[in-house]
Amino acid sequence: MNNKNLWGIDLGGTKVEGVILKSAEEPEVLFRTRFSTEREKGYDHIVNQIQKLVGKMETFVGYKATSIGMGTPGALDPKLGTIKNSNSTSLIGRTLKKDLEDLIGAEFHLENDANCFALAETRMGIVKEKFPDAKVVFGVIMGTGVGGGVVVNGHSINGLQSIGGEWGHNFLDESGELCYCGKVGCVEQVLSGPSLEKYYETISGSKKEMKEIYSSHLGGKDNFATQTMNHMTSLFGKAISVVVNILDPDVIVVGGGVGNIDLIYTDGRESLRKYVFNNRLDTPIVKPKLGDSAGVFGAAYLGK
Ligand SMILES: [Zn+2]
Repeated sequence: MNNKNLWGIDLGGTKVEGVILKSAEEPEVLFRTRFSTEREKGYDHIVNQIQKLVGKMETFVGYKATSIGMGTPGALDPKLGTIKNSNSTSLIGRTLKKDLEDLIGAEFHLENDANCFALAETRMGIVKEKFPDAKVVFGVIMGTGVGGGVVVNGHSINGLQSIGGEWGHNFLDESGELCYCGKVGCVEQVLSGPSLEKYYETISGSKKEMKEIYSSHLGGKDNFATQTMNHMTSLFGKAISVVVNILDPDVIVVGGGVGNIDLIYTDGRESLRKYVFNNRLDTPIVKPKLGDSAGVFGAAYLGK
């Protein structure tokens, strides 16, 4: 048995992935495997798939897991012990942590995927490589949804209600539509990929995917595409300024499909400069390094 090993699980909508890392200081991948969640078969089946995954990990290392970090869609309500704010609806209201602990006999640490992303990029990714002295890191995911995670001194700050870092549901702009969270104009309803595609469709009358909108903008012949990009960068600055004025992070890491667009780091940063409460802007805004692996790696660091 090796108490230094880190065990992480990334529970996604369609797949569940597990990893064992050598240690927090030396995060070499010892074992990695994935299963399909087959979530259409319901909650109990998802739990069983996770048990199967852990079983396979235990067989590989030859000892029983004692502590496992798990990234989940949604968050564990610290008071009720149930999952909330999840797009995997079969998890909502279920006592996932307790059910897994009863079944598997290991302690589970659950946090949402954006927190895992922020943690992974801090401990193993771009922050460790380029900003090793950073104390406060804000990790952002801008893709089909918008999420965020705060890491302080290498630990994820989940908050009293497990909503720490959830800037995606701050109010941003009236142009944003009704959100699944029940509010109107959330950052997610303005800056997610689908919301930006909808914005383009509204102003142009035609449909384009995000990648195409960006390449049309670069081509210089589609004014609607340029207008959409300007809308994105200007509101990105406005949205993130709220976080910068509260946390003043040492670095911001932006992941997700929208985060891949270079304009975020140039025009988006210029926009942030306008809104932030300072006469200059020192905050580095950078792309992540770990790609799709961030979720499962970050999970391994939960509770460590
Ligand atoms: Zn919302």
